[in-house]
Amino acid sequence: MGRLDGKVALISGGARGQGAAEVKLFAREGARVVFGDVLDDAGRQVEAEVRAAGGAATYVHLDVANESDWREAVGTAVQVYDRLDILVNNAGIVRRASIEETTLELWNEVMAVNATGVFLGTKHALPIMRRGGGGSIVNISSISGMIAVGAPAYNASKGAVRVFTKVTAVEHAKDHIRCNSIHPGPIDTQMIREGHVDPDAMAQQRLSLVPLGRLGTVDDIAYGVLYLASDEAAFVTGSELVIDGGFIAQ
Ligand code: NAD
Repeated sequence: MGRLDGKVALISGGARGQGAAEVKLFAREGARVVFGDVLDDAGRQVEAEVRAAGGAATYVHLDVANESDWREAVGTAVQVYDRLDILVNNAGIVRRASIEETTLELWNEVMAVNATGVFLGTKHALPIMRRGGGGSIVNISSISGMIAVGAPAYNASKGAVRVFTKVTAVEHAKDHIRCNSIHPGPIDTQMIREGHVDPDAMAQQRLSLVPLGRLGTVDDIAYGVLYLASDEAAFVTGSELVIDGGFIAQ
């Protein structure tokens, strides 16, 4: 028996990194998964891998900042699998610049993907979940949504996701829709190296701040997402799950 048997999930940013790990884990746990990204070739490769392993997955092109892409992605879940039980708002970008270096264009770009993308996904998933009798939304924020590590626009966008999660949880508890946020620390994906002159030195510097003495893996996060998505977390809503090797405990 899988932990997500009978459930249909929609995951954004599923072509690589944490999102791809969540697509694969969810399919192994019995979910039928629709997932989207802007990296279509990588997304189709993940789709093929899941199907070859006997899982059910459908890749769609989904730019999370584009409302009509969300309509189509939610529509695909309903068309292909007839319902929607789980939404994982995972897609995200980081742009590294100080406040004074941050142009309005850069600020808007980060907000559009990391914050507006979560709003749009939630807005379009809610009616379908309500129709099905409930659901679970898992938003990927960051420890950067709690403390000042990261980059200003990124921090602000992840802080927005943190509190928007609580609003969703409170507003939709009556619909049996739960909503929680996950706050990863430094995870070993392309994102942690992006935009640094010396990416390996940066990864090492981050690692030195982790009491458990290693970077997180994509599966460290995927198992947290799985828990919150599943019925095991039936009484958990509006909460924050920090998965950071002890980073912010110091
Ligand atoms: P990643 O860069 O490997 O993955 C991000 C994915 O989002 C990519 O597949 C990318 O193509 C996709 N994406 C970007 N813009 C998109 C858009 N407009 N529409 C749809 N998809 C888009 O990095 P990751 O570490 O797997 O990141 C996953 C999530 O975890 C992000 O929200 C990120 O902010 C968050 N996070 C990462 C870390 C870390 O250290 N890696 C730490 C805390 C939080």
